[in-house]
Amino acid sequence: MENEKRGCDCETTSEYIDEPSNDELKENIGCCGETVDETGKPPEEIEECSCGGEFPDKSLVDNPKNPKTAAYNGFFDEFEQFAHSMGIVSIGYVHTDSDWANTEEPLSYLNAIVLTLEMGKDIIVAPPGPKAQELNDATYAKFGQITYALSDFIRAKGFATQVAHPYGDLVSFSPLGQEAGMGWVGQSGLLITPELGPRQKISAIFTSIENLPFKTTEDYSWIIDYCEKCGKCIKACPEKALIETESCCGGKETQFIQNRCIGCSQGCTSCIEACPFDQKGYEHVKTRFDKMNAKLKEKQSKNGNTMKKYNENTKN
Ligand code: SF4
Ligand code: SF4
Repeated sequence: MENEKRGCDCETTSEYIDEPSNDELKENIGCCGETVDETGKPPEEIEECSCGGEFPDKSLVDNPKNPKTAAYNGFFDEFEQFAHSMGIVSIGYVHTDSDWANTEEPLSYLNAIVLTLEMGKDIIVAPPGPKAQELNDATYAKFGQITYALSDFIRAKGFATQVAHPYGDLVSFSPLGQEAGMGWVGQSGLLITPELGPRQKISAIFTSIENLPFKTTEDYSWIIDYCEKCGKCIKACPEKALIETESCCGGKETQFIQNRCIGCSQGCTSCIEACPFDQKGYEHVKTRFDKMNAKLKEKQSKNGNTMKKYNENTKN
């Protein structure tokens, strides 16, 4: 699965790597010489990731020859209303640069509209296998059609677009969603949003529109602090596609081994199912995290006061 294509979102976690060699796995794939994993699974047993297939362009409207660049008042209200009527849950706006392109195909425009669609619970409860894959593929296909329809809407108004299909490789969707202020990329590499936690697909429409309504939004960076204490997705991954390693600075970081992930090939969603943001919901997790931090601060403050008194008494 991927928010992108792990579960399948084949997206980055803290770090995204191709299948390391067995030697690397057994001995050292971190930068400090630490042992990080010992699965002993030989490369020939590792299933190839099947994410990122080709999808035909379903656009019905051609790009205009001389695209407009300034959206009129009310355009985005119309667009968002139409998008929500088609099932889009959240919409973000972001300015990128050419480095965001993952493929040889360059980005035609650097402004993007980022879209999310809910992954049905039926995909989550289906065990990895043909049925789960079928459901997952159907969601990608449906979301692709919706994204093309929304792109057509924009083209029909005189603006140009380039569609990033949710199953495609044009850009990494989870980081793009984070950049658009829609949520934060969790340890699983999936975008976690207030609306859907990690249980969504993401697509994007790059556009000639220059005055996108970029929003200053809530700070979601606390999510990765929560992830550091959780780690449930790592434990839940049946293929050891998520592994924890030590970072250069002595901390921990998670790596995603794409070739091991069976999100696309078998519709695996174990890392989503295990995530408290999916099980309990964003608000529940945030409230608990805030309470936990408040208690910790109170304790630290009490300890600080006790030390202060002790030091004063010792002086006297
Ligand atoms: S649990 Fe592991 S194998 Fe399954 S989708 Fe997530 S990362 Fe991939
Ligand atoms: S399961 Fe835990 S560590 Fe993994 S993304 Fe969700 S909150 Fe973060």
